Amino acid sequence: MNNIYGLDIWGNSNFIIEDGKICLNTDFKLPIIDVVKEIRKDGIKGPILLRFPHLIKKQIVEIYSNFNRAKKEFDYSGNFSAVYPLKVNQYPGFVKNLVEIGKPFNYGLEAGSKPELLLAMAYNNFEAPITVNGFKDKELINIGFIAAEMGHDITLTIEGLSELESIIKTSKERFSTCPKIGLRIRLHTSGSGIWAKSGGMDSKFGLTATELIEAVNLLKSANLLHKFTMIHFHIGSQINEIHPLKKALTEAGNIYAELRKMDAKNLTAINLGGGLAVEYSQTRELATRNYTLKEYANDVIFLLKTIANSKNVTEPDIFIESGRFVAASHAVLTAPVLELFSKEYAEEKLISKDENPPLVLELYDLYKNIKPSNALEYLHDSIAHMESILTLFDLGYADLTDRSNAEILTHLIMKKAISMLGNKQSYTDLLKIQKQVQEKYLVNFSMFQSLPDFWGLKQHFPIMPLEKLDERATRSASIWDITCDSDGEINFDPNINPLFLHDIDPQEENYFLAFFLVGAYQEVLGMNHNLFTHPTEATVYLKENGGFEIKNILESQSVLDILEDMDYDVYEIQDILSDRVKNSILLDDNEKKQILGELYLFLNDNGYLKSIG
Ligand SMILES: *Cc1c(COP(=O)(O)O)cnc(C)c1O
Repeated sequence: MNNIYGLDIWGNSNFIIEDGKICLNTDFKLPIIDVVKEIRKDGIKGPILLRFPHLIKKQIVEIYSNFNRAKKEFDYSGNFSAVYPLKVNQYPGFVKNLVEIGKPFNYGLEAGSKPELLLAMAYNNFEAPITVNGFKDKELINIGFIAAEMGHDITLTIEGLSELESIIKTSKERFSTCPKIGLRIRLHTSGSGIWAKSGGMDSKFGLTATELIEAVNLLKSANLLHKFTMIHFHIGSQINEIHPLKKALTEAGNIYAELRKMDAKNLTAINLGGGLAVEYSQTRELATRNYTLKEYANDVIFLLKTIANSKNVTEPDIFIESGRFVAASHAVLTAPVLELFSKEYAEEKLISKDENPPLVLELYDLYKNIKPSNALEYLHDSIAHMESILTLFDLGYADLTDRSNAEILTHLIMKKAISMLGNKQSYTDLLKIQKQVQEKYLVNFSMFQSLPDFWGLKQHFPIMPLEKLDERATRSASIWDITCDSDGEINFDPNINPLFLHDIDPQEENYFLAFFLVGAYQEVLGMNHNLFTHPTEATVYLKENGGFEIKNILESQSVLDILEDMDYDVYEIQDILSDRVKNSILLDDNEKKQILGELYLFLNDNGYLKSIG
């Protein structure tokens, strides 16, 4: 198997393999392992989340340049604007960079809650648009008015008529400035894929045709119709196929034209929401996205132009709110392998007995005499023998030493066979065996914290080692995290999406895995299961001359901080621990002093494993 780990499928030319290392695909090919080593030099261990602002920029530029190109190509007269939906990643290490990068494009922010809106009001580039979606109470609407009064270009998109009534009421109570108003439309078209719950007639959101007419009438009688500027829809996240989007666009374009005809003269914009997909797959067969951004932009512009022209209305301004597409690629989680579960199976651990069962002796023979010409046959035999020994053990005819010897020998035979067979045997046969000998790699990270969508939705994220990419990876792997939850495993089916890793001894060498495309949704959805918190993060800025600079290293929270977040009284905890040490009858004064010092250090350090990784 060629060890590029599907980089040509999911990598979007962001990374490149050079000298066996995965590197940034910039002029200066920076190996990611160099960054990790640099950060760890100062004693930081455990998982590290790396942010690459140049990859945020790449996505933003790609969106604007594709839409602007399509506008030119189709001679489209409406404007194009984009906002970033904060719910996708609200971490300052991401948002502040994004806002800065987005400045020349007038890139705005989208908010779906009070804290997100207040965040947008503080950080948004002042001239850039703010859109507000999601359910709103009177308070949230009030905050929206404050934003408009501060001078922000803000559009409150209402999800239901009661919100509109609230806006009308608020406008009578407050100062003269009123935010722009958007109406979320309920489409009969819905998205596709595992997130497709935001569109469609049974969707949680949006106004029906009847409600739209009522909304326009309400606005008219409140003298606010001139504030109605936008219609909005969002057919779901990770839209893998372009077809539902086209249907939604056609429907929205017609609604736009109809509403314009109802005297909504300032209705000039259609907001398409988010949903641009990211390709996460590491195997061609499992790739899901069936379109490119170029095609997406062309379809949007062409369809809206066609509808506007045929209905004789102004070509609408276009807003998009893509989040996943902008955020996913900027973050890479790196984590050290702590252990290979089968490393116990070494020849020196064999315990010889005066009388060994024939099956164990036969296994020993297989192990001694295996060679490339018989490797497959011996491998099959050893697996059969192993199964027989386990049966004998259950029946009481083999003891624990016999079982241990058989397990060691079988593993050693498997290992030898795999390295001897290499690519020579027929692929399927080897894969079958690989499946039976899958190695468990224990990795210093929490899946619940760092890949929650794998836990919740079985969303796959590309995984590969940072180094050794010029050496053949021989072990079919599954990944185990350090939570003590049996769900904390990422399984790979060798027949569908195999993951092969290297046969290493973590005691002897550091071996890092990287998890890619984790910049969208994973961070804030992450759970503190077992009290593992957000990993240490760092931002990597590339310099003109090819060097790099690591900034904003934020170490993973300390144990005391975690407990404080959970509303424990951390002073009480420290007092109790210290009293219990002081009152221990097992310790003398010196020992007590030492233990108190140790406890202090542990409480102020983070909770990830330290020993090796
Ligand atoms: C979640 C959401 C988005 C972002 O969706 P992506 O799939 O991340 O692009 C955009 N608009 C609205 C209204 C949303 O709820």
